[in-house]
Amino acid sequence: MALIVQKFGGSSVADAESIKRVAKRIVETRKAGNEVVVAVSAMGDTTDELLDLAHEVTPIPAPRELDMLLSSGERISMALLAMAISSMGYVARSFTGSQAGMITDAQHGAARIVDVTPVRLREALDDGAIVIVAGFQGFNRDTRDITTLGRGGSDTTAVALAAALDADVCEIYTDVDGIFTSDPRVVPKAKKIDRISSEEMLELAASGAKVLYIRAVEYARRHGVTLHVRSSFNNNEGTLVLNNPGEGDAPMEQPIVAGVATDLSEAKITVVGVPDLPGKAAEIFTIVAKAGGNVDMIVQNVSTAVSGVTDISFTLPKPEAQQVLRALAAEQERVGFSAIQHDDQIGKLALVGAGMRTNTGVSAKLFEALSAASINIEMISTSEIRISVVTRADTLAKAANVVHAAFGLDGDDEAVVHGGTGR
Ligand code: ADP
Ligand code: ASP
Ligand code: MG
Repeated sequence: MALIVQKFGGSSVADAESIKRVAKRIVETRKAGNEVVVAVSAMGDTTDELLDLAHEVTPIPAPRELDMLLSSGERISMALLAMAISSMGYVARSFTGSQAGMITDAQHGAARIVDVTPVRLREALDDGAIVIVAGFQGFNRDTRDITTLGRGGSDTTAVALAAALDADVCEIYTDVDGIFTSDPRVVPKAKKIDRISSEEMLELAASGAKVLYIRAVEYARRHGVTLHVRSSFNNNEGTLVLNNPGEGDAPMEQPIVAGVATDLSEAKITVVGVPDLPGKAAEIFTIVAKAGGNVDMIVQNVSTAVSGVTDISFTLPKPEAQQVLRALAAEQERVGFSAIQHDDQIGKLALVGAGMRTNTGVSAKLFEALSAASINIEMISTSEIRISVVTRADTLAKAANVVHAAFGLDGDDEAVVHGGTGR
């Protein structure tokens, strides 16, 4: 008997009809003789709506209470799903994150899983039940409070359950047929990938491809969990995320570029007129870190000998910008820079591929494609298997489409998006 973990995202359980459809799919897996553990997200855009509601009540909701509020979204869908399965004559039992033994640190809104003790889940499975777990949430032993794992965190719940229960596979059901060479909502000619390395998927997820949450990919990579990303709207094979996709019957030669990711969630801050002295960058980024800024790209301009000052630009998640701007402004005199600029109309494009390690000319081709489309590049950063550029937000979609085509990734047909609002 195999143990299968299945995760259903918000768009797959958006309404009562969808919940019944998903219930049927779970029952089919059980009927085929498998033990089934399900991690479920909140219905549709519930999490966003709860967040909006909190911000209508207060501009800065207390983190503990916000986690109480947000974790309720997944409790609604888990109970409805268990009811739907019961009505089909199968035994299903739902569990909150804390009942399921998801132990996390105390970081509200971005908690990390530190231990998984699925005692009650194992008991329920031994009783022959289908187990449904509320995704995205856990429990901290010291504070004895409910935590949430960060947006998109139900993916991590599923992977952590798969690792703790030693599952045969972790299936991530969503509103597209798998992982594509780019977001099909942005690049209609994106192609489905059959198998991708966890290394490449990590870079794509870190660069904004929200089809999988980065922490889930990390967790799966570390614990050797095989991920199968597929559609909850049909029975097609999806995409396998493997640590070594070259094994078995896969083609020997992998393409140079795996995909193109886009990200509109970051803002750019420029610190203008920074004295060009040792220690100034350290001072600035210490202030940024203390204010809770998670810095992504950094560019420092060369200073001219005459001026003796330089500009430092960096990107970070939009919601963190205000607190970082305030913290920098408070220290302006001490650090000695002349001004701060804030730009929230940027877009980030990342080209990812393990083949970049051994192939030259990839950046030249990328820059050429952007230049041919008259798209200006504002920042550049690279890793061994990724090149990222910052453009204006309103040119990002065009940039992604031309780069996708330039690297020969375009498919013949338009990719299908089955549901969801893309919010
Ligand atoms: P769920 O609610 O199932 O967790 P998400 O909205 O978090 O679904 O993730 C699925 C979405 O991810 C897709 O609808 C698609 O718009 C987006 N996406 C971004 N990049 C990619 C990619 N490379 N391949 C497939 N989907 C992608
Ligand atoms: N419901 C949460 C969110 O919208 C977690 C998830 O769906 O993975 O972020
Ligand atoms: Mg998701």
